Amino acid sequence: MHAESDTIWHSVAQGPAIRGALAGAEGALRGAVLRIFFRVCLISFLMAFWPLAGSAQNAASKPRVGPAQVVEQVRVYRIGNEDRIVRELAEFLAIPNVASDTENIQKNAARLVEMLEARGIETHLLPITGRGPVVFGKLITPEAKRTVIFYAHYDGQPVDAAAWTDGKPFEPALRDAAIEAGGKRIPFPENAVKQPAVYKDDWRIYARSSSDDKSPIVALLAALDALRAKRIPLNVNLKVIFEGEEEAGSTNLQRALELHKNLLGADLLITADGPVHPSGRPLVFFGNRGDIGLDITVYGPVRALHSGHYGNWAPNPAMELSRLLASMKDANGHVLIDEYYDDVVPLTALEKEWLAKMPENDAELEHELGIAKPEGGGEKLVELLQLPSLNIRGLSSAYVGDRAQNVVPDKAEASIDARLVKGEDPRHKFEQIVGFIRKQGYLVIDREPTIEERRAHPLIAKIIDEGGYRASRTPMDLPLSKALIQVVQDATGGRTVVAPGLGGSVPMYIFEDLGVPWIGVPIVNYDNHQHSSDENLRLGHLWNGIELYAAILADLDW
Ligand SMILES: [Zn+2]
Repeated sequence: MHAESDTIWHSVAQGPAIRGALAGAEGALRGAVLRIFFRVCLISFLMAFWPLAGSAQNAASKPRVGPAQVVEQVRVYRIGNEDRIVRELAEFLAIPNVASDTENIQKNAARLVEMLEARGIETHLLPITGRGPVVFGKLITPEAKRTVIFYAHYDGQPVDAAAWTDGKPFEPALRDAAIEAGGKRIPFPENAVKQPAVYKDDWRIYARSSSDDKSPIVALLAALDALRAKRIPLNVNLKVIFEGEEEAGSTNLQRALELHKNLLGADLLITADGPVHPSGRPLVFFGNRGDIGLDITVYGPVRALHSGHYGNWAPNPAMELSRLLASMKDANGHVLIDEYYDDVVPLTALEKEWLAKMPENDAELEHELGIAKPEGGGEKLVELLQLPSLNIRGLSSAYVGDRAQNVVPDKAEASIDARLVKGEDPRHKFEQIVGFIRKQGYLVIDREPTIEERRAHPLIAKIIDEGGYRASRTPMDLPLSKALIQVVQDATGGRTVVAPGLGGSVPMYIFEDLGVPWIGVPIVNYDNHQHSSDENLRLGHLWNGIELYAAILADLDW
């Protein structure tokens, strides 16, 4: 069975047109035909192969092997199947996946259904009007007592093709190293039965979503293939949620999931989104921050005035806004707004313990970023990320540089964001900030002021609430949390960085609201250019990710 499938694969993989389709436009038609052929071959390979291993899926049928042995066996499988794994990823990356590109995002969902069904996973599409559906899948393991949902998103950030070195974000390109390290473009290697293609760990695939977030999906599916091939049973029921509009703000995710709540019963959700730790070590994280945004405009005279004729007399809105913003924080970055830190749920002793063990490179960062004295009064970066923040993300009033005019401006604007931690309500945080601005004497409105208001109030602030969402943190002392840390550490030789919470924001509260605790287990390289041009995946990280996900599926137990 295996040999026969390899023969089919061999004949496909030898065809130069696949490489042509991946590398350039010329072979596009032949490439498309062969892509379909490749897909049929992959699917028939998997369909033919999987029922054989069906009995091995029974959780109780065989004593479990430990994570370290799972990793070893999965590695053997991977070494023999690198070409198949890379090509499945490359084919997937070749489908443009910007959330608003309705036609193509649907194609991504259709491809995902094929990829899941090829593994015998029951699949449902949870539709979202005008957008890619949530792709839901379920794989039951007889006698498994726990169910784990694996979350990833299949949409990617919009692309500016001109900013990409290869100019084609949806034509995956292989390089022998990162572009910054002088990586050269190389062809996808030949594959043959007697001499399977070998992909080096440091090689990188360049394409939109190669890291964020398609490769974790392919890693999970390869992990399933490897476990099946090695007859290692899963220890959990697996469900998947693949979202198609994460990069567009996950606007419909909560509603789509609530409508299909009956499908989503689970004990744990693992999110694959994001990179590993900056140190290069694997990462598991238990929380992230929420965030809110607001825009503030303060007003001077109804029109910009000559600074010579009116200076010293006309109130200057840029000065007023500067004074207002500066009064929000002290020189150490501590926020001076009343009750700003009052709702923060403090870290538990266990969370503090893990936080203290996290690697820190503050000194290197200061050096690299040209920072002489960080904020925080001596606290470490990882500690400061456990607190709410207040940040000016943009400032504007009249003109600077060559365009500067000698005027008293008519208005000044600032855009502010605040990151929230566990315990903080987005609306309440917004009101704290607004309350502070009122306390400084401002009339706060949510529209342009009238002339009467301008005549009556020396200080007016228009504040636009851009909304936001709360933070989310899964307790680290839950049995499932401890069990996951254990499996991951066993699978990675104890190298994994365990973080109580990351600084960024992802709306993981949605899963918290569904009653499913979540933990982040990312796999991709930190230097992946996520969201930017030249997004890339280091293949060694993909290989490690396959092993890690396989170990979790085979050995997570609590
Ligand atoms: Zn992502």
